[in-house]
Order: sequence, then C-alpha cells, then structure tokens
Amino acid sequence: PSMTRGITKEVSKASWDDIGGLKDLKKKLQQAVEWPIKHADSFARLGISPVRGVLLHGPPGCSKTTLAKAAANAAHASFFSLSGAELYSKYVGEGEALLRRTFQKARLAAPSIVFFDEADAIAPKRGLKPLAVSYCVLHGLVPFGAVSGHGGSSGGNVTVGERLLSTLLTEMDGLELATGIIVLAATNRPHVIDAALMRPGRFDLVLYVPPPDAEGRFEILRIHTRHMKLGKDVDLREVAESTDLFTGADLEGLCREAGMVALREDMSADSVCNSHFQTARDSLRPSLTKSMIE
Ligand code: ATP
Repeated sequence: PSMTRGITKEVSKASWDDIGGLKDLKKKLQQAVEWPIKHADSFARLGISPVRGVLLHGPPGCSKTTLAKAAANAAHASFFSLSGAELYSKYVGEGEALLRRTFQKARLAAPSIVFFDEADAIAPKRGLKPLAVSYCVLHGLVPFGAVSGHGGSSGGNVTVGERLLSTLLTEMDGLELATGIIVLAATNRPHVIDAALMRPGRFDLVLYVPPPDAEGRFEILRIHTRHMKLGKDVDLREVAESTDLFTGADLEGLCREAGMVALREDMSADSVCNSHFQTARDSLRPSLTKSMIE
C-alpha cells in the first residue's frame, strides 16, 4: 500500500473468487457497488440514484474487509481504508481532518471506495460508551476524549465521537454532488451505530455477513488450499463438516497449520495429508461461539 500523508490508498488484489460462500451477498454488493460505478450511464438514464453507503455487519473474521476490497477491485475503483478506532484515538481535530482529507483524496481518485473498519467506534450511538475507549485502553493509546473527559465536554458539549460522526455525515451528504464514491463500513456491533447514519442517502443498505455454513466452509477451504499440494486422502468436505463455528480466518489458519504439521513431521514431505488436517483441527479452537451468531 502506498501511504499519502496518513491516508492509505491500497491496491487491492482481492477478487470475488477469493471469497468462499456468500453467493447472494456478493451479488447484492455487485449491484450496489460495482454497477453504479461501471454502468453510471445506465443509472443516469433511468434516473436511479445509487446507494451512497453500505454497512456490513457480522462476526469478525468472516470477510467483511475482503468483500469491500473485492468490490473495489471489481469496479476498478480506488480503495481508501480508515479504522474508526484509529480515528477516534487521534488528537483533537486530527481525526476529523484525516476523515476530510480521505474524502478529498477519494474524490480526486474517483471512482473510489472509502472503507471504514470498526465503524461503531466512529459512529457510536450518542450517549453510549464507544468501543473505541476500550480499544485505546487495550492498545495503550490516549484518546483525546479520555484526557478531556470523554462523554463530557470538549469544545462546547460535543464529544470526540460526535464530532467525527458529524464530519462523516457532512462528507456523506456532500457525496450527492460527487459521483463515483461509495462508502462501505464494517462493524461487529451494528446496534451501537447512530441512527443518523441509517437515514436515506447515508448507509441505506445494511447487509449481514454471516459465518460460513458447511458449504461455505468447504469453498473457503478450497480457496485456501488452492496452492497447496494435498494428499489424495484429504476430504475437504469432511474437514468442512467438522469445523462448525470456524470463521473464514480460522479456516485459513487451519490450512496453514495443516501444512506446518506436515513439515514438522517431515521437512521433505511432498504433500499435506488427511492426518495433518486432523491434527491441526484438534489443536485449534474456533473463534465463534453459538451466542455470537445472530
Ligand atoms: P474483522 O471484523 O476482524 O476485520 P473481517 O470480517 O473484515 O474481520 P476479513 O479481514 O475480510 O474479515 O477476513 C480475514 C481473513 O480471513 C481474510 O484474509 C481471508 O483470507 C479469510 N476469510 C474470511 N472469510 C473468508 C471467505 N468467505 N472466503 C475466503 N477467505 C475468507
């Protein structure tokens, strides 16, 4: 990724084919993100105004980021990514400035996708303690709000989260004039997103990205083993059946671990076999719990 004054414009290589399962979801994103960019003329001809924002929500490690990158790539759009928690942890005014600068760059580089990870941190429901506070504490960062009394006053009665939120809303409302910019946001906690973001013309498409079912897990395993040399006895369907509650990220880890097991056993091994997958499977715990699945 190339860094421009704190704004990362990433060259995204992810494609729809790198994402296992989620067929309907991919189709919806294609229509919401890829079509308005690729077929702007048709939208104009019929007088359809494309969605400006798409909110992706669902458990971590289930491809929200990869979906956003794949959409950008398929649309041949520039990809700008921002982390809500990171914006929140900046010094006073810096988060808003970075936000505005990112939209400015995105306009110049249009068509563009602006991707917000951990969107709940930047757009907390007013009055709720944002996730970003715990994020900052965890990472040893000092959020401005914590210094000045977050949730209290900082520049009138406006908190850091609220200022970031209103900057984001202003930028999104301004998109009416600029064509070819779509904002994608991801969160594990959609219920803390401020209602103001859900108004028409903002995040008017909300998509749930579920954890993979057995069929999805099979496709994910196929994707992450496509460059691996597999033994004839490997049955990925069976692996998929035995990995309930594994996320896409977990499955990627499982494939890598199976390869490592094979190498630990024999550095000159020429394939990864069923027993290696079994051992790897038994040594790993899934990230999801039943209660995390909506
Ligand atoms: P987070 O909420 O933690 O940011 P996320 O939902 O954005 O997670 P990604 O970062 O897109 O998830 O996924 C993490 C990794 O898991 C990716 O690098 C990808 O390789 C793998 N992965 C997740 N889901 C899938 C999938 N459906 N198909 C293939 N790979 C997947």
